[in-house]
Amino acid sequence: MLLRLPTTLSEAQRYLAEGAVPVGGATLVWALWQRDGFPEQAMSLRALPQANLIGREALGAAVLLHQVDDRVPEVLRRAASTVGTGAVRRTATVGGNIVGSTLRCLLPAALVLDARATVLDGDGAYETDLAEVVAKRHLLLGLRWRDPVVSGYHKADGEAGGEPPLVVATAVHAGGDGRHRLLVAVRDGYEVISETTPCHPDPERVLRGLDRTALGSLPAQARDAVRREVNGILEALAGH
Ligand SMILES: Cc1cc2nc3c(=O)[nH]c(=O)nc-3n(C[C@H](O)[C@H](O)[C@H](O)COP(=O)(O)OP(=O)(O)OC[C@H]3O[C@@H](n4cnc5c(N)ncnc54)[C@H](O)[C@@H]3O)c2cc1C
Repeated sequence: MLLRLPTTLSEAQRYLAEGAVPVGGATLVWALWQRDGFPEQAMSLRALPQANLIGREALGAAVLLHQVDDRVPEVLRRAASTVGTGAVRRTATVGGNIVGSTLRCLLPAALVLDARATVLDGDGAYETDLAEVVAKRHLLLGLRWRDPVVSGYHKADGEAGGEPPLVVATAVHAGGDGRHRLLVAVRDGYEVISETTPCHPDPERVLRGLDRTALGSLPAQARDAVRREVNGILEALAGH
């Protein structure tokens, strides 16, 4: 197997056209390749500057999960810190998690940040939404979003090999009109639902707004967790 390490977008585009398979830390693909055979070419984005950004409003796909620290909003930092074991986080990448894993603990965090994905194909780099990246498994270069006012992340305890633990991600964004908007994303099983509602000083009103969305049909345990997280984020907003 030839491992390509592009340093420019045009090089990456060329390797993609030659059929190079994207690879992050190979924490998932290594075992598959050993079983089914290695591809002729693989491409890691670790030498590509655009895929290594890390900041308040951007995160590159080649960034390792253990490098996701307080330069990014809390929701994303906490999501990355709960993935697998320390050994997995030192090797696995943001791109491998969002595009390649079935659990995708980073996805609810990216959804509440209202993140846009930058992807690369034969026509060049362009922005698209996360649902499309997950469905079509584009080559992900990174994520971009607008810094939220406050954000939070809750992952229930889970057993290795058991059902995916419940995740509730929350973020409050300031709109152009000065009003605040709450985004909530829940991973229940393998399904991720994300919804939004205007903020209000009365948490009950906000919760009623969310109850009228798809979040209202979640099982009782998940709705209790949403209630706790929403109360917590509105308190954080009040104290901000
Ligand atoms: C012990 C263990 C525990 C885990 N626990 C969790 C958990 O709690 N939560 C969770 O979310 N995940 C968990 N995972 C999955 C983990 O998130 C993935 O192993 C990891 O994110 C994959 O990253 P990687 O960089 O190693 O991907 P790789 O193994 O290199 O690639 C995986 C797939 O993603 C594709 N890919 C990689 N980078 C890109 C890119 N930039 N653009 C497009 N496609 C790309 C590859 O082509 C491949 O199909 C666990 C994994 C292990 C081994």
